[in-house]
Amino acid sequence: MSIKIFLTSLLLSLSFYQKNFINEEFFSEKNNFSVLVLTETQGFVHHEAIEEGVKLITRLGKENSFNVTHTNSSEFLSDEILKKSDVLIFLCTTLDILNQYEEEKMKKFIRSGKGFVGIHSATDTEYDWEWYGKLVGAYFLDHPKIQKATITTIDKEHVSTKHLDDIWEIEDEWYNFKDFKPYIKELLNLEEDSYKGGKNGKYHPITWYHEYEGGRSFYTGLGHRPEVYHDERFMKLILGGIMYASGN
Ligand SMILES: [Zn+2]
Repeated sequence: MSIKIFLTSLLLSLSFYQKNFINEEFFSEKNNFSVLVLTETQGFVHHEAIEEGVKLITRLGKENSFNVTHTNSSEFLSDEILKKSDVLIFLCTTLDILNQYEEEKMKKFIRSGKGFVGIHSATDTEYDWEWYGKLVGAYFLDHPKIQKATITTIDKEHVSTKHLDDIWEIEDEWYNFKDFKPYIKELLNLEEDSYKGGKNGKYHPITWYHEYEGGRSFYTGLGHRPEVYHDERFMKLILGGIMYASGN
């Protein structure tokens, strides 16, 4: 069976369950690398953020010469598709989305030197899978109401943060985290004295990166409000995170 027929039949058989695989330029070779965006949720659904996030990443791909494929179901994380992908993005995923076979595929993907980008509730995902917790770097604990907060840019050398001011303000939903891994490299710190409801203290990373088992991982806690996806600072942060994860 050809790939096209296979994917078409897969799409038809799954469209009934509203699991979508949007296969725009996935197999194009004109671009530098390929990004696979997963938006599966088993808990809270960030409808608008997911919509805006997919739009943003698709546009970034067009402007920066990388392919973007989007799926809302982990069923599409086949060996074949992962082999053609360089970066796997968990965009506002929630809770337990991968079965044990898909978990093995994801391990293999990262161990082959590829990249992961987690956005917002990517830390509210896969609590029972320790390997994932180490990959993403921390887990979500809770959050106060949406409000403005001050962020300090800790590392301005990184490709994702070099455009940012030393100190800046933005309105979003601010996650408290548990179980920060000691090896994460902090890029942005949330200043708890600038808003109400922080629980991590002075050290409150809100964006970080690290190498992991041969691959690269980037995470940002920003991205709850759909408006954030239209903020130039966030757009460049995400682009830089994708570039870092891709190894480009
Ligand atoms: Zn949220």
